[in-house]
Amino acid sequence: MTTTPHIAVLGAGYTGVATAKLLAKRTGATVTVINNRDRFVERMRNHQLASGQQVRHMPLRDLFKGTGIRLIIDQVMRIDADERQVALASGAEPVRYDLLVYALGSHADLDAVSGAAEHAHAVAVAEQAERLRDQMRTASTVAVVGAGPTGLETVTALAETYPDRSVRLVTSGGLGDTLSERGREHLHRALDRLGIQVLEHAKVTKIDTDGLLLEDGKHVTADAVAWTAGFTVPKLAHEAGLAVDDRGRMLVDGTLRSLSHPDVYGIGDAAAAHTQDGHVLRMGCGPGGLAAACAFHAITNRLAGRIPKPLRVTTDALCISLGERDGILQPTDLDGSPRGKVHTGRPVAMIKKAVLRATGWYNLRYPTLAVVAARQG
Ligand SMILES: Cc1cc2nc3c(=O)[nH]c(=O)nc-3n(C[C@H](O)[C@H](O)[C@H](O)COP(=O)(O)OP(=O)(O)OC[C@H]3O[C@@H](n4cnc5c(N)ncnc54)[C@H](O)[C@@H]3O)c2cc1C
Repeated sequence: MTTTPHIAVLGAGYTGVATAKLLAKRTGATVTVINNRDRFVERMRNHQLASGQQVRHMPLRDLFKGTGIRLIIDQVMRIDADERQVALASGAEPVRYDLLVYALGSHADLDAVSGAAEHAHAVAVAEQAERLRDQMRTASTVAVVGAGPTGLETVTALAETYPDRSVRLVTSGGLGDTLSERGREHLHRALDRLGIQVLEHAKVTKIDTDGLLLEDGKHVTADAVAWTAGFTVPKLAHEAGLAVDDRGRMLVDGTLRSLSHPDVYGIGDAAAAHTQDGHVLRMGCGPGGLAAACAFHAITNRLAGRIPKPLRVTTDALCISLGERDGILQPTDLDGSPRGKVHTGRPVAMIKKAVLRATGWYNLRYPTLAVVAARQG
């Protein structure tokens, strides 16, 4: 490695921005960030965007001002792990690196069901959430597919904003399957209060212009369809020959370093980080923030000739808003099973607002919270 290493960070989402800023500030390395949009997208607010709330996407140039980080707005097309360089869609000179941080996040899996790509709006993608918002101006019936945290936040935000519309939630599982009994009961009451029609154990097989077709042959009418069922990750790591799991997430060790390529680190949704106990972190901003901080520690330590300690995470939690004034905070084990006391109601809605401010504002400017929170064992 050269005396002043060059670190390329791919992706300027929640984890990429924080890691790039920490590395630029606290190591002697030069840092380049490559992202395909010129703005930071607060994905955790996409359901708010879809329901017509104002969400400001900050210009990345402003976020990186004064940091010395070189920002390239371009689509990463290919990683050449042997040559240590990254090819860009614009055809510009490939970006060479000494160390690579892979933080390309995830997106909706619209290939999972026939017609989804043409007729559904993926809430995971800001531009599609905006299209859903536009379609909601005239739609009288909307169906949200998927009852994970994103689906629940989306369906409750839409039902609260449009009390005069018919709002449906379609899920292949049972409602609140991953919550404790108390959490599940609260969820049922909240959806009932908002007038949401829930179709459980209903597998969608096709989406067309006027709604959804279910596996049992039933047709569910909808003028607009919001897709929140299933996320997938970019294929670049796999195509570059880096070790990935069966979902294409980069396989990394406890220090977030690629299992196959020691000069590559993977963080956030696009990487499958293993804790000391062998658990894989779920896709999510919370675990991603800890992983990003741990990668920062690991890179800093290795550059200084020290041996880094692996990430140590023992618990997790789901914090789900159910509209503006309600929510569920469910502590979980790392495998997602509920543990401890579930919290509900207005205090949780306030906690969720604070989480959104911390992740989408504070941590981008002063990415120190996660560094403190990331315990290493
Ligand atoms: C509505 C909603 C609510 C959510 N709520 C929560 C929550 O409450 N708690 C929680 O923990 N998680 C939540 N999540 C999940 C959370 O948003 C993700 O886990 C988080 O965004 C992952 O961060 P990341 O840095 O890995 O990726 P991202 O934030 O997705 O960033 C990836 C970046 O890479 C860029 N990119 C992708 N491909 C390329 C390419 N080829 N070339 C250049 N740039 C590229 C993207 O444009 C993006 O800027 C929510 C998600 C949604 C959609």
